[in-house]
Amino acid sequence: MQNHEEIFHNSASHIGGILEINKIPKSDFGFTETQHDSYGFLITLTYSFHVVEDTDTVAGGQRISGNHYTSSGYEKTKANYYKYASQCNNEKSEFIKNARSNLVSLFIENKDKNVWVAPTFSYSYNCSRCSGRGQVTCFSCGGSGKKICYGCGGSGSVSEIKSVSDIHGNYEYVKINRSCDSCGGSGRQTCQACHGSGKETCSSCSGHGYFTEYCHIKTIAKPAITYDAERGLYATEVVNYFLPRTNAYLCKVMQPEYTGEAGLNNGDYCFNMKAPITVVEYTVTVRGKEFVEVAVNRVPGILYPPIFDHLLGKVEEQLVDSRRQSRGHILKLYQDIMDHHAINEALEAYREAGDAAKGQKIEAVKSRVHSATGGYISDGFSSTISEDIVNLMSRLAPHSTSWPWWLAGFLCLVLEMVLATHLGYKNISHSDSMTGFDSISAPILGVDLLFVMVMALPVAFLNWLVTRYRQRGVSAMHRPKVYHRKHIMRVIGVLSVAWYLFLVMLYLTHSFAHSEYVGISHYGDTAYTKIVDFTNSNAIIWVEKHVRDWITHLRSYAQKKGLLIWGMVIVGIPMFFMPTIVAWFRRKKNIRWIFVGNLFLPMLSWFLWFVILYLVFL
Ligand SMILES: [Zn+2]
Ligand SMILES: [Zn+2]
Ligand SMILES: [Zn+2]
Repeated sequence: MQNHEEIFHNSASHIGGILEINKIPKSDFGFTETQHDSYGFLITLTYSFHVVEDTDTVAGGQRISGNHYTSSGYEKTKANYYKYASQCNNEKSEFIKNARSNLVSLFIENKDKNVWVAPTFSYSYNCSRCSGRGQVTCFSCGGSGKKICYGCGGSGSVSEIKSVSDIHGNYEYVKINRSCDSCGGSGRQTCQACHGSGKETCSSCSGHGYFTEYCHIKTIAKPAITYDAERGLYATEVVNYFLPRTNAYLCKVMQPEYTGEAGLNNGDYCFNMKAPITVVEYTVTVRGKEFVEVAVNRVPGILYPPIFDHLLGKVEEQLVDSRRQSRGHILKLYQDIMDHHAINEALEAYREAGDAAKGQKIEAVKSRVHSATGGYISDGFSSTISEDIVNLMSRLAPHSTSWPWWLAGFLCLVLEMVLATHLGYKNISHSDSMTGFDSISAPILGVDLLFVMVMALPVAFLNWLVTRYRQRGVSAMHRPKVYHRKHIMRVIGVLSVAWYLFLVMLYLTHSFAHSEYVGISHYGDTAYTKIVDFTNSNAIIWVEKHVRDWITHLRSYAQKKGLLIWGMVIVGIPMFFMPTIVAWFRRKKNIRWIFVGNLFLPMLSWFLWFVILYLVFL
């Protein structure tokens, strides 16, 4: 048991230590004991006894020798054990006797304890689905072991449609009948589900034919803990302080002792413990302002006065004032306040947070402020100052700069428009290709993608240079961490997707441009130079024919009206602003969004441009 001078001294040196870490000189603070009191902190540990019954059922299962019963024997045994479990007076008094000598560890553990456990017993019953056989009639074939052939629908023969084409692209279809390959002409197949046996394993009991139910009955003691205090100084605050804390912590600082026990009318049983406590109230005077703190036994403080709200109040005022000031002004403020221990810790937390979202940065800074001030700061004040620090640093040392990416995206668009007006349009006018795809899409989209790929690394470097310039004057300890590996992975990811799309596009333009049919005979003759066999579908022929028609219409109309350029303006310009709008609304102003947006949306714009031209103008 400590005396009140000792408790006061320990508590005061705890706060003094935190103030010294924060470089507050010893002459700026002092402590004075005002009053003290000694009384008891009361703990009651009550056990209530319950009978718990649970069963588990398994398909098949092992019979327990000696404890395996028939259905009626099982119910009778269950009733007997249940009756015993709700009494078991000998076991209960044995449990109470043991608890008395282990009270502190039971209090810390605070868990259900077994008082009496009945031996496990079981019974088995037949599966109702298969009546104990373990097998049921095959659902798939109805027990016959045979099924109608999928290939021919039971008829034994199949018909096939072949199409043949000539040099003009005209098609003729021929129907041929032949014997079914799947069933060899019989129209029936062996059932795949039962392999011809007509039976399948019962899914309810997994083929065992029976289930076994195991029953576990036991009597348990459930603990409940209540706290109270004898009348005395700060008794309510002391109870409130210990309520949310662990029992182990309470035992460590309070060392409660057994004081008595009682059986209750409803059968519950309770143990009483008491911890002798000494409460000391004293004042902390920091730079002219007084705060009250209360210490109990080995707990240095239970009130946590917001000393640092006062100490950092001036810094917070300066931060609020600086919101609309010039960079030079806030840089000077930053250099002034970074000497404060808590502020310096907060700035390091800002660095650690790297490119996290603003809310996460504020949380990280706040928790560091809290630990640097030993918790002697109010929740509201630490939130406010953390948000102001993050705002200040977002201006002084931003994580990255977005405009090099906007510039790159804009250059991509300019290049597209130049190609569309000069190269693309000229080529269409003199195109001798079949579809026009190779003269429009390949040079423009291909060069666009290559351009994005080539620009990625220089733009990343430019972004780094600009960001470093914007962070000038800020200590390396406070600049947000850059995760180079993460950025490199992003660039590689985007490059590989772009390269893949480029290859797909080359393949498409190539295959459309060179799909032609060369023949030496006319339609109606017996010798065909090429037979196209689309066994069940004419979709590919249809699409190919109609796409060719669309392109021909589009090409002649665009030649007359110059709609190519107008389409670019109508669809392409809004598309350029789309990444900005999306990034703004989703508050994701990071490079990945902008970069991917500038890569994919121009491609989407090209697609929409074709669709709109066709649907609206033709
Ligand atoms: Zn069964
Ligand atoms: Zn079957
Ligand atoms: Zn068949």
